[in-house]
Amino acid sequence: MEAVHLLLIEDSPADADLIQAILAARSDAPYRIQRATTLAEGIGVAQEQTFDAVLLDLNLPDAQGLTTIRAWLEGPGIRPVIVMTGQGGEEMGPLAIQEGAQDYLTKDELGPALGTRIIDQARERWALEREQRIMAVAFHTGQATLVTDAEGIIERANPAFTQITGYTASEVIGRNPRLLSSGTHDPAFYQALWRQLLEEGHWQGEIWNRHKDGHLMPVWQTITAVTRENGEVEHFVSVFHDISEQKRLEAEMARLAATDSLTGLANRRHFLEAARSELHRSFRHGLSFSLLMADADHFKAINDHYGHETGDLVLKTLAKVLETNLREEEVVGRIGGEEFAILLPETDHQGAETVAERLRALVAGTPIPTRSGEISITISLGMAGFQGAEDTVDGLLARADQQLYVAKEAGRNRVGAPPAG
Ligand code: GH3
Ligand code: MG
Ligand code: MG
Repeated sequence: MEAVHLLLIEDSPADADLIQAILAARSDAPYRIQRATTLAEGIGVAQEQTFDAVLLDLNLPDAQGLTTIRAWLEGPGIRPVIVMTGQGGEEMGPLAIQEGAQDYLTKDELGPALGTRIIDQARERWALEREQRIMAVAFHTGQATLVTDAEGIIERANPAFTQITGYTASEVIGRNPRLLSSGTHDPAFYQALWRQLLEEGHWQGEIWNRHKDGHLMPVWQTITAVTRENGEVEHFVSVFHDISEQKRLEAEMARLAATDSLTGLANRRHFLEAARSELHRSFRHGLSFSLLMADADHFKAINDHYGHETGDLVLKTLAKVLETNLREEEVVGRIGGEEFAILLPETDHQGAETVAERLRALVAGTPIPTRSGEISITISLGMAGFQGAEDTVDGLLARADQQLYVAKEAGRNRVGAPPAG
């Protein structure tokens, strides 16, 4: 058994020896005792070592009566603290307990029962008090907290539970937490949850719950089984908080990381990712797919002539024209300054050529209104088709870029396409 480390603050050597002898006689409960003869010395020792309990004489050279216990609790505060009252000071004991001592004993009581009765009980009482205090604090944090019995029937719910779920404690006490079920998770989810909870005593994860008003909300939930000494479950404590806002922010951050801020199109990185997954999908299912590259013609001249701001507006409008004239599954990304790339899933050479030509004509026929008047702009395009197992996104882009160059060389405002085949 781990020895109990006791701090004995007692200025009378005779009393201190007596206490030490009594405790030493108890072979069932070993004690390690550190002695101090003044309050100041005791405080000093307590700052350097940890103790399981303190025996504090209320009549010390540097502190007398209730001042002693107050000074102790304000100082190191090590608990439990059992005060010892001398002759004529018997009425001090109950007052010391009011001040925060866990127990008291009078010096005439110093006998063999000291160790068990006083010290052990004081330690237990202190542990309980502390646990209750922790529970009281825990119950009033922003986390929703439910306590159920072993059958899962709700016994307690805290104010945060009401705030998060819309149900008051009285509406849920006596019911099963299933009333929060959203119907989002399949039976296998709950089976796995219960298996882990019963085997390991603990489960945590994300769950979708239903608010009293009907809306669904994601929560991060921790469920802990509270067991008796024999291992039997006595309670379940479930703690959760709403993570809707966190999930919204995560989604927003993911969206921002994937989009180009000027045009709102997929950025280069996101476009490449989409192209890679399209390439794998096409390969798996034996589908054709094509990739287009579009580059604004003589764009530098627009900047030079109208200014960079107008150039930006032209780019934004161009992006909009491309985006609104493509189908949902056709991804368009801005992969460079005035360069765009377009993924055409399940589209062969001929289909791609049709789309490219349509986009070219559309841009050429859509002058862009600006403060400096309407600006006409054209694009040149290059296209490449998926060539199967050995093909890569880089390869597709390089081939499309090559055709784009061909289109530029041939005079711009046209589509460069490799020979069909
Ligand atoms: P080409 O027909 O050969 O494509 O000629 P170009 O002038 O379009 O080609 P070049 O690559 O020489 O110039 C592209 C210009 O695009 C240069 C750059 O200043 C401009 N640019 C790139 N990004 C932006 C942007 O975000 N906003 C604006 N306003 N201009 C940009
Ligand atoms: Mg250009
Ligand atoms: Mg360019």
